[in-house]
Amino acid sequence: MDVRREIAVAGIVQGVGFRPHVFRLAQACRLAGSITNTSAGVRIEVQGPAGALDDFLARLQSEPPPLARIARVVVRDIACVPDEGFRILTSRVEPAARTFVPPDVAVCDDCLRELLDPVDRRYRYPFINCTNCGPRFTIVRDIPYDRPQTSMAAFRMCPACQAEYDDPGHRRFHAQPNACPVCGPQVTLLDRDGRRLDAEDPVRETIRRLQGGDIVAVRGLGGFHLAVDAMQADAVRRLRDRKHRVEKPFAVMVPSLTAAERIVDVDAPARALLVGWERPIVVLPRRDGGAVPEVVAPGNRFLGVFLPYTPLHHLLFAEGGFDALVMTSGNLSEEPIVIGNDEAVERLAGIADAFLVHDREILRRCDDSVVTVAAGEPRVIRRARGFVPVPVLLREPVPPVLAAGGELKNTICLADGDRAFLSQHVGDMENLESHRFFDEVVELFQRILQVRPDTIACDLHPDYFPTRWAQAQPGVRVIGVQHHHAHAVACMAENHLDGTTIAIVLDGTGYGTDGRFWGGEVLVAAGASFERAAHLAYVPMPGGEAAVREPWRMALSYLARQAGVDECVRSLPSYPSGDGVEPAQIRFVRQMIDRGVNAPLTSSCGRLFDAVAALAGLRARVTHEAQAAIALEMAAMASHDAAAYPFDLERPRGGAWVIEPRPLIQAILDDRARGVDAADIARRFHNGIAAVLARVAGLVRQDTALNRVCLSGGCFQNRTLLASLQAALRADGFEVFTHREIPCGDGGLSLGQAIVAAHLVRSS
Ligand code: ZN
Ligand code: ZN
Ligand code: FE
Repeated sequence: MDVRREIAVAGIVQGVGFRPHVFRLAQACRLAGSITNTSAGVRIEVQGPAGALDDFLARLQSEPPPLARIARVVVRDIACVPDEGFRILTSRVEPAARTFVPPDVAVCDDCLRELLDPVDRRYRYPFINCTNCGPRFTIVRDIPYDRPQTSMAAFRMCPACQAEYDDPGHRRFHAQPNACPVCGPQVTLLDRDGRRLDAEDPVRETIRRLQGGDIVAVRGLGGFHLAVDAMQADAVRRLRDRKHRVEKPFAVMVPSLTAAERIVDVDAPARALLVGWERPIVVLPRRDGGAVPEVVAPGNRFLGVFLPYTPLHHLLFAEGGFDALVMTSGNLSEEPIVIGNDEAVERLAGIADAFLVHDREILRRCDDSVVTVAAGEPRVIRRARGFVPVPVLLREPVPPVLAAGGELKNTICLADGDRAFLSQHVGDMENLESHRFFDEVVELFQRILQVRPDTIACDLHPDYFPTRWAQAQPGVRVIGVQHHHAHAVACMAENHLDGTTIAIVLDGTGYGTDGRFWGGEVLVAAGASFERAAHLAYVPMPGGEAAVREPWRMALSYLARQAGVDECVRSLPSYPSGDGVEPAQIRFVRQMIDRGVNAPLTSSCGRLFDAVAALAGLRARVTHEAQAAIALEMAAMASHDAAAYPFDLERPRGGAWVIEPRPLIQAILDDRARGVDAADIARRFHNGIAAVLARVAGLVRQDTALNRVCLSGGCFQNRTLLASLQAALRADGFEVFTHREIPCGDGGLSLGQAIVAAHLVRSS
């Protein structure tokens, strides 16, 4: 006897080939019925013998299409109706319900084969895609995810494409961006002034120009890239000059895994990241003798490498024969990535020699994601294309909260129920363009998730753009969350921890509850509250932001605590490459320190790294964020010294432990006087800071009986620090939790803010 069941499936089930998959599965099980997209996911009705229905349901859950993620399946019996065959019904929207928008997916192997097959009708077509691959998030206007709600609405399918789209047995059945050379988007090459070039074949002409050393702006999935042949050092240098990007490393796109293996060390986790459909930039150790010129990533032992992910990228490599292309975000140094054709010509004027554009609008700005492997595990550094908007699943349901994130590397987070949606990397809130991008992202996430929370979480820093934005929203409850508490809770949330944990949070700076700039913190953290158990000693940051750009000032700040003016002048090393610091400057900055003028106090760990890098003679000044700290880590990697510099621990009555670096500074000066080289100094510092933090964790455990430690904050991008502290803590019996899916830096901050606010809302 036949039965009929309704199956509601929630999760990432739209735009991932779910309906055709179910269609084929239903046919295989000889079931009648239908499937339809709803705003909640998909709804399936199937009818047939009970055994066949059970089989269908089991296979639905055990073998979903590759990109789908099933979050929940609800099954109920309904009355049988006369029914024959299986149908795919058109989408209907159910208000007050919601579904996921899928992330963008790198071109699949089947499409790639067709792309390079001279007899295929899509031979060399740069926009080939299917249900298993292609643009998604970046072309979405609204939900449900269907062609009219994407920027493909502008293109009318030709009869051949329409037939594929309508054929349930076809790989392109209901592939929303389906297109071909007859009916779909086209590429065009523009000159530096945005005039259309009469190139017979824009792709071949682009290749010719890249081979000639030109910089070509290439419109991609989530924005423009600036492309240049990575093997031509002069061309890369020209790109640096024009982009005002002095030394910050570029990532390179390489044609294949084999090509990647020639220039970087690729282990098993790295291989999985490189070939995964998210296709992020993977930062890996550079191989000795790799042919990529030094100017691509000066002074760095690592290199960001990624594989082609659009058909256009594949064409450039297949026909251009490049070993590697620098593919960097098409933007001015700190602005958001450019997405529009006119916008590109205007904003990239003076940088690009030509523009390879197309007419499929990018609706969502989305940078390349950046990941790495550290302490043996994959870690997301910048979460954007391919990862967004896949949610973080939470340990327990939360009320709706919007978190505005931090000032740098901003992301926002919309948490509701058992999931938290982090936005793509929005970036540094330094200019109007990024403020607009922020507004766009807030709007988009509230729209596609169909929720407008009346609670907004933000940082405590009164001058952060997202904080001011939150406070300006009418009719909402604004909850300020301390920066390092948010980092700690982000790590707890990612690891599904509840209760209270020890959290070691190390970063540049975040606003403290005492109005000072924190950043070397050991907290006892819970969802709704925290206590500061220990911190690095406060030192002045002479000149405020200037101290970030000039690490020698931080060196002086630490020196000034234990040495006279003349001794300080003698103690600062002489730096390579005209990086020198004049005695007059030293005396001037020393005065700022002594008088406490424009010298805010900080317990920042990032600034301590800067100071040590400067004291070790590595850098007096930097041209991009964390450059001195990275130089210090690179130096440490050249040494296997086991010695560890000492720190003192002091505990003012009833207060938090203070981690006092005076003995460290003295030891560095002594080592330098003895001629110990910078690599050993750097290594001894890394060993020392890991040892003292593990010791502090032990002291906090004595007081609290807590045995779980979360590691968070941007300093943990330092692989050496992460690995050695994790090892030291584990050796002492701690359970250690770190970030993997969510950035440890401020890109993960909004998640922590959202969860803290949710705890406060629930308890009030
Ligand atoms: Zn495909
Ligand atoms: Zn077509
Ligand atoms: Fe931070």
